Amino acid sequence: MRPFAYQRAGDLAEASRLGRETRQGQADAAVQFLAGGTTLVDLMKLDVLRPDRVVDIGALKSAHSAIEAGADGLRLGALATMAEVASHADVRRDYPALAQSLDQAASAQLRNMASLGGNVLQRTRCPYYRDPSWSACNKRKPGSGCAAIEGFNRNHAVLGVDDSCIAQYPGDLAVVLAAFDAELELAGAAGARRLAFAALHRPADGRPDIETTLRPGEIITGFRIPAGPWTRRSLYLKVRDRASYEFAVASAAVGVALDGAVVREARIGLGGVAYRPWRSHEAEAALVGKPLDEASATAAANAAFAGAVTHGGNAFKPELGRRTLVRALLQARTLSNAEAA
Ligand code: FAD
Ligand code: SF4
Repeated sequence: MRPFAYQRAGDLAEASRLGRETRQGQADAAVQFLAGGTTLVDLMKLDVLRPDRVVDIGALKSAHSAIEAGADGLRLGALATMAEVASHADVRRDYPALAQSLDQAASAQLRNMASLGGNVLQRTRCPYYRDPSWSACNKRKPGSGCAAIEGFNRNHAVLGVDDSCIAQYPGDLAVVLAAFDAELELAGAAGARRLAFAALHRPADGRPDIETTLRPGEIITGFRIPAGPWTRRSLYLKVRDRASYEFAVASAAVGVALDGAVVREARIGLGGVAYRPWRSHEAEAALVGKPLDEASATAAANAAFAGAVTHGGNAFKPELGRRTLVRALLQARTLSNAEAA
């Protein structure tokens, strides 16, 4: 047991002040925010995260957990729990992919505890990252190497990887947020700002230990998801080793706007296969203007995985990812007009 200080922030300003040394996404950060604790406490017990100070932001929940749906989009408070958002009637009706990504994540107990803000900042499940007895892990210990490249890598990523890290981003919600052009609301010492969700997670780029673009002390206070016909005609398809309580081996978040049978606009996110929450603009471009059928879905899936890089154990992933995307797109086609109106 490593000793650490525990502080409870009463409001946003205090949280930002107490947490001003947080460096989100860095394994050696000395200060960590505590929301639901389902990632943080887990990794502290494993001795992967070793904060000197934990700043509890639970008291911010009353001010930052509202779920507001309007004509132009959805706003979600970052302290809302996964369960609260997944069960909200407007989210289920108008953003089914989002509700499904939360419903299919973790377990009921975890969904009742875990916050949206913590969810998008969860860490990889790479076994070498989670076990400090392995010395080679660039994400945990910069410059130490990557044990997974020559080791057990069945669940590792095939998109967005480099020689420094092939870890898979494990979350589900983030895949939908990436596909749907979500924006983050942030608060920090320098005030509030907005950030495109696509810019939150950094590419590996030789420095996988720096995972996000958040500034020290910055807190995620909310998410904004613009509404579109594709948010209504959307779904999240998750393929995993067992039917529940399991991370994705491959997943697809798809949303389409159709003119008759022809795709007017498409939004495609991929999970379980990429280093960070992945949007495939290539797959979207392959679909637009085409009838949504097996041929166009297959062309989109081929485009999505054209740049895949495998490392032995995960050689099956591009094909599984392609099939997952094709299935998701063909399912989206069958959603009723009432659902997609
Ligand atoms: P915490 O653990 O409190 O925090 C996580 C990190 O985010 C910390 O570094 C913390 O400092 C930071 N943080 C938290 N809130 C904020 C904020 N508002 N602003 C800035 N920084 C913040 N997830 C899936 O998507 N799919 C799954 O299938 C899945 N299965 C799981 C199975 C198990 C057994 C476990 C333990 C977890 C699983 N998860 C899964 C991950 C789970 O969803 C996350 O652990 C959870 O969402 C994290 O939220 P939290 O509020 O508990 O975060
Ligand atoms: Fe570490 Fe990334 Fe390699 Fe896993 S894949 S051992 S997280 S550097």
